[in-house]
Amino acid sequence: MSLSGKVAVVTGGGSGIGRACAVRLAQDGATVAVWDLNGEGAQGTVDIIEKNGGKGLAQVVDCAKTAPIKEAVDKVHAELGQISVLVNNAGMTGFDPFMTITEEHWDRMMAVNLKGPFLVTQAILPDMRAGKWGRIVNITSSSIQTGAPAMAHYVASKGGLMGFSKALAIELAEEGITVNMVPPGFIRTPMLEASPVDVDAYAATMPMKRPGTPEELAAAVSYLASEGAGYITGQTISVNGGRYMGSA
Ligand code: NAD
Repeated sequence: MSLSGKVAVVTGGGSGIGRACAVRLAQDGATVAVWDLNGEGAQGTVDIIEKNGGKGLAQVVDCAKTAPIKEAVDKVHAELGQISVLVNNAGMTGFDPFMTITEEHWDRMMAVNLKGPFLVTQAILPDMRAGKWGRIVNITSSSIQTGAPAMAHYVASKGGLMGFSKALAIELAEEGITVNMVPPGFIRTPMLEASPVDVDAYAATMPMKRPGTPEELAAAVSYLASEGAGYITGQTISVNGGRYMGSA
């Protein structure tokens, strides 16, 4: 297994895509710290990992705040060891016509979706540098490729995460640490189910005529976290069923 002996952190690992990523990285051999605001969700993910014969640690963490992140890293060091894989997945969404977006809502969106990955990455990068090896995978969104109505705050936060990923990829390129992006496009998760979108009706308009599964997204994350993806950085693997193909 390609990640044997490695320690991974998955933020927002208590649900949906984050859960699937944590379970998959554990199947790949990593020990996985599952960080989430929702402790029950995080523990549920670790239960699945352990049922599959892997090892995990559930932690309640608000990934938008410095102090809980530091505490969580200290605990991972004490219980699991040095971290070398990070999946910045924790995120919130919102569907609000532009003129109704409040300053507070805008600030929280930026805090969770953009400042969070900055804070978490800054807390974990010293481990990767010490090990001269690291894989950072940032979960962005297909909405930065297509735009999305009533989501200016969300799309701006995810577009910021794309810029962050590319800038950091270059800064770390010589150090054996890669930074890549996986934008999900219509993956059936609790977040999608809670949105105002009619999932099945929208899926019928897509090339594959179905939403994706969290496991299909986790497969891309697993590849980008692997040894074999060592020459890939600053790149995007879009997991969207052909919904957006972009330019070469
Ligand atoms: P989800 O709501 O099922 O899971 C998100 C998890 O993040 C939840 O467990 C939540 O508690 C956690 N979380 C939220 N804020 C947090 C914080 N401050 N600290 C720690 N944990 C926090 O959603 P999902 O669909 O699995 O989304 C995962 C990621 O994928 C998000 O970043 C989302 O924006 C992105 N995404 C999803 C889709 C999709 O089709 N599902 C599309 C585009 C982007």
